[in-house]
Amino acid sequence: MSRSFDVIVIGAGPAGYVAAIRAAQHGLKVACIDGWENYDGSNAFGGTCLNAGCIPSKALLESSELFHRAGHEFGKHGIKVAKPKLDLATMQKRKAGIVRQLTGGIAGLLKANKIEGLVGHGKLLADKKVEFTPVKGDKEMLAAKHVILASGSTPIELKIAKFDEDKIVDSWGALEFDAVPKKLGVVGAGVIGLELGSVWSRLGAEVTVLEAMDDFLFMADRDVAKEAAKQFKRQGLDIKLGAKVTAAKATGKGVKVDYDDKDGQQSLTVDKLVVAVGRRPYTEDLLADDSGVQLDKRGFIKVDDECRTGVPGVYAVGDCVRGPMLAHKGSEEGVMAADLIAGEVAEVNYDVIPSVIYTAPEIAWVGKTEQEVKDSGRKFKTGAFPFAASGRAKAMEQTAGMVKIISATDDDEVLGVHIVGPMAGELISEAVLAMEFSASTEDIQRTVHAHPSLAEAMHEASLSVDNRALNFTNR
Ligand code: FAD
Ligand code: NAD
Repeated sequence: MSRSFDVIVIGAGPAGYVAAIRAAQHGLKVACIDGWENYDGSNAFGGTCLNAGCIPSKALLESSELFHRAGHEFGKHGIKVAKPKLDLATMQKRKAGIVRQLTGGIAGLLKANKIEGLVGHGKLLADKKVEFTPVKGDKEMLAAKHVILASGSTPIELKIAKFDEDKIVDSWGALEFDAVPKKLGVVGAGVIGLELGSVWSRLGAEVTVLEAMDDFLFMADRDVAKEAAKQFKRQGLDIKLGAKVTAAKATGKGVKVDYDDKDGQQSLTVDKLVVAVGRRPYTEDLLADDSGVQLDKRGFIKVDDECRTGVPGVYAVGDCVRGPMLAHKGSEEGVMAADLIAGEVAEVNYDVIPSVIYTAPEIAWVGKTEQEVKDSGRKFKTGAFPFAASGRAKAMEQTAGMVKIISATDDDEVLGVHIVGPMAGELISEAVLAMEFSASTEDIQRTVHAHPSLAEAMHEASLSVDNRALNFTNR
């Protein structure tokens, strides 16, 4: 007889494992299936985020930033140290240890919540039957009252620059280098290109980033993008805009990359090439022909605002459905799906999902950019405060960047907050909370912020919206 569950979740990334835990918190009988396989052949829960994305990249960003500071910034604090030496093996070991701890933690959480963690492949058949093919052992047919699909995403591969897992690599490959490439090429100046380009640049690589678009960070507010571009240039990241890669060929020594830009045909030779031109939904062998679940033109699983697929009882969440490919967006969708299954009212506020790029300075935003507000026709006012005028930022020796707030003229509602600067990824949470509660600029102005803190820059930016900044004047 086949085992049956109230909920079967396929995928144990941040969308799937969180959905499974919330469903279990509702007292439901839950199974969570995942077939993730690491380079060494081991299996682990946690998906892209924990194994090959958010966590390992942030571990290397932190280590490489410390390495850079020790070499370039300690002197300003009056700390004299010899030129720091890189021990990449230890840096990579630390990263791997963090990943192991956290993925092991997910396995522990599933167990503690009495969730059946199943290692292998899941496929949705008709009538909410799930075919489970374990990594070891025989196929098993499972039955469920509800299914949550959380199969994630995978890197887009360019036909003209196929991954060879040696010289032409995806983001996972670029997290695993065992030596610093002398010259590193990156295709795509998006989030991954900037984060991983920063890591290897700080560790000594000469990094060239080829970006097809003419605008830098086209999804960000223009003021923030401009300031970020200035800082990256200062750091030595060579970002070439309007550069369309036409061919990349691994040669004996490295990779020859051809690209077209406004001056015509160009070419570049690098030791390694990272291709980071976006990710696509991953639904390989996930759905039987008669499952009833539909994909859209771009391969995403079709869902409504509540992540329902259209097949009663079947939901899809995370990177495999429309919307930004972000771990926290997937987790919130997972919680919503589980709550809806339990009969609760639930929703995700898609208007206030924060974006963070963990470079130095960090870049973070929530809500609309100035261009988007302009296009919407709504009258608005803006205010900004530079970190150069922040006591805390000065004490930290990290004064680049600013906080910018965009507010509605009519009712003072905060429409967007854009930060480039130290700890922007932490500071943005205040803006997210404010916007979740539909705060006005005055609400932030009247909120007491600790002194000295980076968060004072948010306070001052809100005052600046009404030309009342206290510690800065642009009059
Ligand atoms: P995934 O994490 O991709 O998990 C899907 C899981 O489903 C996988 O484990 C896969 O093995 C499993 N699976 C798929 N199909 C099946 C099947 N048929 N049967 C069984 N198992 C299956 N986002 C952020 O918010 N912040 C960051 O800092 C950040 N940094 C990133 C850095 C990098 C280098 C990358 C690549 C991504 C980063 N992201 C970041 C994006 C983030 O990783 C994804 O948005 C997030 O992992 C999506 O979660 P998910 O659960 O939808 O999918
Ligand atoms: P991205 O969409 O952020 O950037 C891809 C970039 O590649 C774009 O600027 C695009 O114009 C460019 N591009 C596309 N085709 C090109 C070509 N042929 N030649 C040159 N440039 C080209 O994608 P990504 O950086 O690969 O990241 C994938 C996803 O992972 C993103 O959606 C992101 O949300 C997520 N992610 C998030 C974080 C974070 O939250 N900090 C970190 C890493 C990844």
